[in-house]
Amino acid sequence: MSRSEHTQYIDGAWSQGNATRQLDVANPATGESIAVFAESSSADIDAAVRSAAAAFRTWRHVNPHRRATWLQAMADAIEARLSTIASTMTREQGKPLSEAEGEVGKLVKTLRYYAGEAVRVCGQIIPNEDDGFQSQVEHEPIGVAAAITPWNYPAELIGWKLGAALAAGCTLVIKPSEYTPLTAVEIVRAIDEAGLPNGVVNLVQGAGEVGGELVRHPAIDKIAFTGSHATGLRIYETMGRIKSVSLELGGNCPLIVAASADLEAAVAGAVRRSFRNMGQICIAINRAYVHRSLYDEFLVRVAEATGKLRIGDGLADPGVDLGPMTNAAGLAKVEAHVKDALDRGARLICGAKAPDNRGGLFYEPTVLADCDADMRVMRDETFGPVLGVATFDDLDTVIEHVNDSPYGLAAYAYATDLTEVYKLSRGLSFGSVAMNCVDAGIINAPYGGRRQSGVGYEHGRAGLDGYLLYKHVRIKHGVQG
Ligand code: ADP
Repeated sequence: MSRSEHTQYIDGAWSQGNATRQLDVANPATGESIAVFAESSSADIDAAVRSAAAAFRTWRHVNPHRRATWLQAMADAIEARLSTIASTMTREQGKPLSEAEGEVGKLVKTLRYYAGEAVRVCGQIIPNEDDGFQSQVEHEPIGVAAAITPWNYPAELIGWKLGAALAAGCTLVIKPSEYTPLTAVEIVRAIDEAGLPNGVVNLVQGAGEVGGELVRHPAIDKIAFTGSHATGLRIYETMGRIKSVSLELGGNCPLIVAASADLEAAVAGAVRRSFRNMGQICIAINRAYVHRSLYDEFLVRVAEATGKLRIGDGLADPGVDLGPMTNAAGLAKVEAHVKDALDRGARLICGAKAPDNRGGLFYEPTVLADCDADMRVMRDETFGPVLGVATFDDLDTVIEHVNDSPYGLAAYAYATDLTEVYKLSRGLSFGSVAMNCVDAGIINAPYGGRRQSGVGYEHGRAGLDGYLLYKHVRIKHGVQG
């Protein structure tokens, strides 16, 4: 995409934002500026919400089979543009091209999944105590939803909201991250090609203030947000009226390697889930607790496997494992967490510096041993390629310890002994628990956080339910017996 193209999409038409502020999009691998775009003004935001509200009046009654056909058409159009969307993503976000392609593939899969779910929204007949009455429960779409999304998975996280909202009969205003506006533009171009009725999907652009205006807009009925805990809390505090919300916020996800674990599998899992996407994943492993009997060997093998990861520009060399961090604020936080741990006595196993041949936003994946509970890496979300490791002796105690966290998004554990497997899967109090694997997220199972990690669910039927209201209709028909 060239500089300064039209990046907002309102009521089926592309336009430039009308705010005076211009934002710059940079390639994190090179530092080069790749686009400048104007933020959406208050009038733009209002127009987008009004267009979604007008479209809702008809979209809500469109036959669900027809809505499913549209979702499939959108999936087809996105699939046809897969390589453009993926290279746009790598250019503005930094992840290796192969991973960006995989992410767009998941977006397609999500839309197809929700095309299937659209026709499975059905009600209930409830028995009444008195003859002559019928109670029926119907589902109706909530209304206009705002999808406010971050930059770490700029396609997939739009897709979860887009698929579920449209399948339910809601209309949508998307506000992507200011770091990754162009991926959203490419996705919406595909939606436009699919010929969706005007106003069903709208796109506004800008930083947090634009998100804030959308949140406070009285005609927004549902807020679907993925991002930091701080912003999630702000949304809760500032929405100003009762609205439906789903918030998918940060995590400080633990990995437990029990005494009976398959060490090789645990090491591979730890390296993958700590460093993939440079650790910029809410479900990344931040902290590992390894049984004392496996601790030294775990550290040796993790260092070995981490040393094999290839770091580079994921567009010029699509086969690299890791790209740069996406932005300077993220890198600064990583450096602060590493410094805090080292200052407090952690032992550096590997990393903690820029790779030899690169500066900028590149950073070596870092493993820190002998960590304690006070270190930031063991209690805050680092959102970067840092793994803090500690040892433990008693499984019940460590389960209790990892649960004692404000965060409750995902937890990982490796064990082969049945008693240990059961204790872990029952005891871990997190929205997702992955045992002997590190890929908990599948599109047809619910995904959501506990405690300060959020409220509501995405994925699966639960994700669709987040866009639906219940209506109880009690009819007195008078037929006796
Ligand atoms: P991240 O660090 O993962 O980007 P943020 O929470 O800062 O997390 O941003 C996630 C999304 O929320 C982005 O689209 C951002 O512009 C938006 N955002 C930031 N501040 C606000 C706010 N006060 N209200 C609504 N949206 C916001």
